[in-house]
Amino acid sequence: MKKQLNVLYVAAEIAPFGATGGLADVGESLPEVLGEKGVNISRVMPKYKGLEDRYKLEKVCSFIVETSGKANVANIYKYKEDVVTTYFIGNDDYFERDNYYGYNDDDIRFGFFSKAVLEMLIVLSIKPGIIHLNDWQSALISLFLKKEYSHIDFYKEIKVMYTIHNLQYQGLFNKETLDKLCLSTKYFNMESLEYYGKISYMKAGIIFSDIITTVSETYAKEIQTPLYGYGLDGILKKNKNKICGITNGIHYDKFNPQTDSYIKFNYHIDNAIHGKNENKKYLQKHIGLPIKNAPLFGMVSRLSEQKGIDLCLKAISQLIKEDIQFVILGTGDSHYEEQLLQLSKKYPDKLKVMIEFNQEMARLIYASSDFFLMPSLFEPCGLSQIYSMRFGTVPIVRKTGGLVDTVKPFDIGSKTGTGLIFQHYNGDALKESIKKGIGLYKNTDIWKSIVRNCMSQRFSWDESAKMYIDKYNELIN
Ligand code: ADP
Repeated sequence: MKKQLNVLYVAAEIAPFGATGGLADVGESLPEVLGEKGVNISRVMPKYKGLEDRYKLEKVCSFIVETSGKANVANIYKYKEDVVTTYFIGNDDYFERDNYYGYNDDDIRFGFFSKAVLEMLIVLSIKPGIIHLNDWQSALISLFLKKEYSHIDFYKEIKVMYTIHNLQYQGLFNKETLDKLCLSTKYFNMESLEYYGKISYMKAGIIFSDIITTVSETYAKEIQTPLYGYGLDGILKKNKNKICGITNGIHYDKFNPQTDSYIKFNYHIDNAIHGKNENKKYLQKHIGLPIKNAPLFGMVSRLSEQKGIDLCLKAISQLIKEDIQFVILGTGDSHYEEQLLQLSKKYPDKLKVMIEFNQEMARLIYASSDFFLMPSLFEPCGLSQIYSMRFGTVPIVRKTGGLVDTVKPFDIGSKTGTGLIFQHYNGDALKESIKKGIGLYKNTDIWKSIVRNCMSQRFSWDESAKMYIDKYNELIN
C-alpha cells in the first residue's frame, strides 16, 4: 500500500495573496489540484504588506528565529480553504514593505523566511514527508534541513523537491551572508554555495534537494547547456539524474472565455470568432484605439530582457504602416517601459501601451487579441501563451523552453497546429512571423481552424499533477 503523501509547498508568491508572475499562478493552482487528488498539502509564503487585513488571516503563534546575531520574531498566520491551508510567515521589518524583492537585505529576509518555515513545523507539529521548494527564495531550506537541522530527529526523514521556475534569478549575495545567517564559511566552496565569488541560494537548492524539477521538459534540458545555464549548467549536469521536467498547466475552469466575468462578451469554441470580435471592439473603444476589424496583436508580460521586448520594439516599428494594431500590458525595466511608451505616443492609432499590473485588463487582452506575442529569449514554461490559446488567441513565439512544448507550428496543408514559431532571436524573424500571421488572419477558413485548434488544447494540471505525485511517491518510498 502506498503511504499517504504529506507535502508542504513553499513559495515566495502564491496567487491571489501575492503575485508578480507565473510562480504565483503555479503556487495557487498546483497545490489545489494535488489536494483534490488526495495529497495532504499545505503551503507557506511570507506575509507581505496588507495581507492580514485583506484576507482576515488568523494568527496562530509566534516564536523567535535567530539571524545576524539578532532575535527576530516570526508571527505565523493561516488562511484555511477547503482543500489547502496556507500559512504565512510574518515579520514587520522584513515583509511589511511595498515590494516583494529588490532590497539590500533580501538575503536575510529570505534566509529568515527559510529558517522560520522549518521551525514553524516543530512549533505546530506539522510533519510533512516532503517539502516542495520553489525558486531561489526558498532554496536555502534544503541546506538548513539537510545540514543544519539534520541532527534533530523531527527533521530526519523529510525529503525535498526543488522546482526551478526561472534559473536567471538566483539569489546571489556576498560571502558575508553566511555569517549573517549563522552559517559556517565551510559552505563557501564550489561543491556548495559558492558561485564566482558570491553565494547562490539557487545552487543550494540544486545541491541539497533530493529531486529537482523544472517547469517544462525542454527547459530541463536547456538549463544543462552553457547557453541557458546561467553559469550553473555544470552543476546541473552533474545532478542530471535528479532533474526532470514537468510542464505547467492552467486552471481551465477559472480561465474560461465562456464564464469569465472580466471579459465583456463571453464566448465558446463555436462562436469564438464573433465573440472575440465583440471583445475587440469593446477593448479598442475602452483603450482609445480606432474601432476596426484589423488584426490585433496583444502582449501581457513582465517587461524584461527575457521576454524579447527588444524584438517587439524593432518589429513593431517596422510594421507600423500595416493595417494592424498592438496592445501591450506590462511592468518591468524602466528603459523598456519608456521606449514602449515613446513608440505608442508616436503611433497612438496603432499601439497602446499600459504600464501596470492589472489582472482584469490582462484577461481583456487575452480575450480580444487575435495574436499573442511571446518572443522570449528563454522561457522556462510560460503560462501566458497557454492562457492566450485558451481564449482562442494565436501565439507567436520563439522556439525555446516551454514554448516548444506547448505551441505547435500551424501547418496550412493539414490545418493542424496552434501558433507561429520562429527560431532566431532577432526582430526580423519576429516581423516575418507577424506578417505570416496577417496572411492567416485574412483567410477566414484557415483562421477559423487555427482559433479552434488553440481552444481545443488542454494543458490542464491533471496530467502534470499526476507526474508530481509519482515523483513524490518515488521520494518517500
Ligand atoms: P513569468 O512567470 O516569466 O512572468 P509566465 O507566462 O509564466 O511568465 O506568467 C506570467 C503571468 O503573469 C501570467 O499569468 C500573466 O498574465 C501575468 N502577468 C504578467 N504581467 C502582467 C500584468 N502587467 N498585468 C496582469 N498580469 C500580468
